[in-house]
Amino acid sequence: MLLIECPNCGPRDETEFHYGGQAHVAYPEDPYALSDKEWAEYLFYRDNTRGLYAERWSHSLGCRKWFNAVRDTVTYEIKTVYPMGAPCPVDLRTGERIRTDADSGAEAGAGSNGSTDTTIESEVGR
Ligand SMILES: [Zn+2]
Repeated sequence: MLLIECPNCGPRDETEFHYGGQAHVAYPEDPYALSDKEWAEYLFYRDNTRGLYAERWSHSLGCRKWFNAVRDTVTYEIKTVYPMGAPCPVDLRTGERIRTDADSGAEAGAGSNGSTDTTIESEVGR
């Protein structure tokens, strides 16, 4: 059984949550311009990752809010949770934390300041 850290409510049992699929799948800018094949790929095709995977979760039996999580599909460990609309704070290929402007100021989860300036910081060797 997973213990999932809701950004609003704290750690809760996985039975309170609803899985929402892969995170960061952008809606097509012009959906009418897509072919049937491209539209089907947008609707149904998702990464099938072995390792770190960014996904959406809803705390459906709690605060009912959506958030993103980075979960390891091998161990089921949830590495981090972060607000909807925020960039993924972890490099999914390496597992390294990506430092954002939000890290230097307010506490994580305080919201996005709209900045897209990011730098990759290695946690190895600290
Ligand atoms: Zn919650």
